[in-house]
Amino acid sequence: MTQSVRPTQTTPAAHRQPQGAPARAPDADNLRIGGLTRLTTIDYPGELAAVVFCQGCPWRCRYCHNTDLLDARAEARIPWPDIRAFLQQRIGLLDAVVFSGGEPTAQGALSAAMREVRALGFKVGLHTGGAYPERLRALLPLIDWVGLDIKALPDEYPAITGVPGSGQRAWESLDVLLTAQVPMEVRTTLMPDWTPERIATLAHALADAGVKEYCVQACDSSRAWDERLGANVMLMSERMGWVERERFATFIVRGE
Ligand code: SF4
Repeated sequence: MTQSVRPTQTTPAAHRQPQGAPARAPDADNLRIGGLTRLTTIDYPGELAAVVFCQGCPWRCRYCHNTDLLDARAEARIPWPDIRAFLQQRIGLLDAVVFSGGEPTAQGALSAAMREVRALGFKVGLHTGGAYPERLRALLPLIDWVGLDIKALPDEYPAITGVPGSGQRAWESLDVLLTAQVPMEVRTTLMPDWTPERIATLAHALADAGVKEYCVQACDSSRAWDERLGANVMLMSERMGWVERERFATFIVRGE
C-alpha cells in the first residue's frame, strides 16, 4: 500500500458522473476486487462481517493508505465468483458484508453484488467517501449501514483529495444519507496540522447538519501516499479540546 504517485490536480476519468442511467447495470462478476477480509468485528458496528475491497478511487487523498486500490484499471485480484463461493460457505457464520475500497460506488457492478449479498441473507455495509451522490442514492434500498468519510469542509477538500468539487460531492452524499435516515457513522481522518479550532469547526458543522455518530481518527503519516505529509503536531486528546462532544450521540476518537 505504498505506491509512489504524486497528487494530481486533474479530474480522473473515473470521477466524472455518467451521462444518464445505463440501460442495464453490469453483472456482479464484473466487480473488480482488490482484497478480502474474511472476518472482522470492527468494520460494521455490532456485526461479524467480511470486507470486500473494491478496486479504484477517483480521489488521491494525501493521507491514503490504500494506494494499491486506487488504480481503477489495475487487474482484479479476486474474482467475484470466488467471493460468492466464500459467502455461501459463511451463511449462518457471518452477519454482514461490507463493501470498502478504494471507492466502491465507482463501479457499476456494485449494485448487482449487493443484491447477491442480500439474497444470501447478509446485511450490507458500505464504506464510502461519497464521491458519487447520485449513485449512492440509487443504492439506498440495498444498504443497511454506511461508514461515510467526511474529510473536511467542502471548500477544503481539493487540498486533501487533489480533485476540484470533491467536497461538494461528499457533502451532498451526507445529505442523501441523512435525508434517507440510513444508519451511519461519519468519520474524519485529521490532517496532521489541523488545529483544535479547525477540528471543532468541522465537527460542529457536522452536528449542525444532523450527524449523530461521529468518529475522528489520527492520520498515520508514515503510511501516507504523499510523502510530504508532515507528522501530527499534537496528541489527539489535545486536539479535541474545542469540540462540543455532547452534540453527538456517539463521539469516538481513534489513534494518538
Ligand atoms: S477516498 Fe479513500 S481510498 Fe480514495 S484516495 Fe481518499 S483515502 Fe484513499
